[in-house]
Amino acid sequence: MTTALNGSVRFVDLHAQIRSLQPALTEAVQAVLDRGDFILGKDVELFEQEFAAYCGVPHAVGVDSGLSALELALRALRVGPGDEVITQANTFIASVGAILAVGARPVLVDCDGDGVIRPGAVRAALTPRTRAIMPVHLFGRICDIEAIMAVADGAGVPVVEDACQAHGALLNGRRAGSFGIASAFSFYPAKNLGAFGDGGMLVTTSREVADTVRQLRNYGQKTKYQHVSLPLNHRLDTIQAAVLRVKLPHLDGWNARRQYLADAYREHLEGLPIRIAPADAEGRHVYHLFVIESEQRDRLRDALQARRIETGIHYPAPLHLQVALKDLGYPAGAFPTAERLAAESLSLPMYPEMALAQVELVAEGIRAALAG
Ligand SMILES: *Cc1c(COP(=O)(O)O)cnc(C)c1O
Repeated sequence: MTTALNGSVRFVDLHAQIRSLQPALTEAVQAVLDRGDFILGKDVELFEQEFAAYCGVPHAVGVDSGLSALELALRALRVGPGDEVITQANTFIASVGAILAVGARPVLVDCDGDGVIRPGAVRAALTPRTRAIMPVHLFGRICDIEAIMAVADGAGVPVVEDACQAHGALLNGRRAGSFGIASAFSFYPAKNLGAFGDGGMLVTTSREVADTVRQLRNYGQKTKYQHVSLPLNHRLDTIQAAVLRVKLPHLDGWNARRQYLADAYREHLEGLPIRIAPADAEGRHVYHLFVIESEQRDRLRDALQARRIETGIHYPAPLHLQVALKDLGYPAGAFPTAERLAAESLSLPMYPEMALAQVELVAEGIRAALAG
């Protein structure tokens, strides 16, 4: 456990994982160079099949980012101007970006004290214009999706899961992405399953949605140069698919390691005046992020930085207080829980190759800062 322990702790470090997968990664990329099928090549098709099987859904369509997967899901469901889509105030801006991209209006709701979107808040936000619900499995924990599906079914509205932080997460034996009619994954490098650049995947239970998104990602083509729908380019690169095919068989092992490290954090932070959302009882949280809450968040962050321990904040402002979204017209105070979490949340270092001794260093730093 003494390797790479010079006392500093990176927030995320991808080097060890890349090294551990050599020479397979280099061979996979070289095979693409040899074949030359850079656009919608063999690895894209195979990775789509493998990822669909992994998620337990019949269809998967590779795209160029998580944002594109969300946007194309909404387009395939014919959500557009005049429509409303419900999502949460405490998330990454991509969820709302996809809604705005199709010309619809994002309707935000507050979360509970653990940062999870509440089915009751979703029900209260329904209007005759609601055309989709987009819950987020934030930080790697599946939200209360079964109750949200019941609200959605009652209203006759489709659910698009934002599973961009939840590759492999489980709830009652089902994977993230297998509940709604369509779901989006991101392969941004630091995600639990990451490419060497941008990439994303739309998974769906609907053949019609899959076919529509296949067309939309590739210039609206039905057959070569027969453009029958909106001509966009949102294809997943073959090289990225080749890399992701090497990584996918390791995902469950990496997620198990994240759970082990999260348990270690909980144990080492026990008794301190901080809040940690409880471990998920019915499901398997995959800890894309390990987040604590403290009223002294900024002081804590500075104290850790002084020990060369990197941390993150997810996210420093809820969506309704972002400059880019001020036209939505939500005032400060509109979503008090999301606002409090933005002020108090601190994300601790978390990646599968992290050493247990590094968890102990982080915990020691927090203990010292709170004592001082
Ligand atoms: C990463 C992320 C996205 C978008 O993914 P990109 O691939 O960066 O477009 C969307 N939603 C959430 C919650 C994310 O964390």
